[in-house]
Amino acid sequence: MQRVTYTIKRCSACKLIKQESFFNVDNSNKSKLSSQCKQCKHKTQQKYLSENKEKVLFQVRAYRDSNKERINARRVELYNQNYEHTRAIRTATNVKRRANQLKQTPQWADLEKIAQVYEYARHLQQQYSNKYHVDHIIPLQGKYVRGLHTAENLQIIDALSNMYKGNRLTDTEPVATIHTHEFNVYISNRRASSGHRCHSTIQIQTP
Ligand SMILES: [Zn+2]
Repeated sequence: MQRVTYTIKRCSACKLIKQESFFNVDNSNKSKLSSQCKQCKHKTQQKYLSENKEKVLFQVRAYRDSNKERINARRVELYNQNYEHTRAIRTATNVKRRANQLKQTPQWADLEKIAQVYEYARHLQQQYSNKYHVDHIIPLQGKYVRGLHTAENLQIIDALSNMYKGNRLTDTEPVATIHTHEFNVYISNRRASSGHRCHSTIQIQTP
C-alpha cells in the first residue's frame, strides 16, 4: 500500500485548511508558501488593483520606462523560445477576434464611420508617438454583456489602459473627450513622466 502525505496549511484570510497546492510559493515566508490561499490572494490583488488603478498604471509605466532594454531582451528570448507556439496562439486569437467582430457587426453598422475611428487612432499614434488602441466600450467578448462592433461602441484609449481593461467592463475614465457629430472618441492620454492628467474637451468637426 502506498501512503501519500500532504502538507496542509490554514489560509490567513478565509481560515480554511487547504492542501499545499492551493497556495502559491513564497520564499519570503518561513513555510515557503504564501499566507493566503490562491483564491484569497487573487481577491486581495483584484481589490488592490481596483482601488489603486492610477498608482498601479503609473508604477507599471515607470518600471517599463526604466527597464526597457532588459524587458526587450527577455521578450526576444521568450519569443525565440516559443516561436511556433506563440504564432499558433496568436493566429487562433486573431481568428477568434475577427470572427467575433464579424458576428457582432450588425447589418446597420456604418463601416465608413468605423474606419474613421481606426484612421483617427492611427493619426493620433503618429502625432503623439504613443500607442493608441481602438477599444470596444462594451467588450465584444465580455463575460456578461457583449457589445457590438459599431462606431458608437468604439473609443480610442492608450494601449496601456486597454491592456489593463482586458475584456472587463470597466469605466476607463477618458482624459480628453473629442466630440464629433459622427462618433465619440475618448483619449486617455496619461503620461508616466508627469503623472498628471489633463482635463480638456476638444471639439473637432469631421469632414
Ligand atoms: Zn483563503
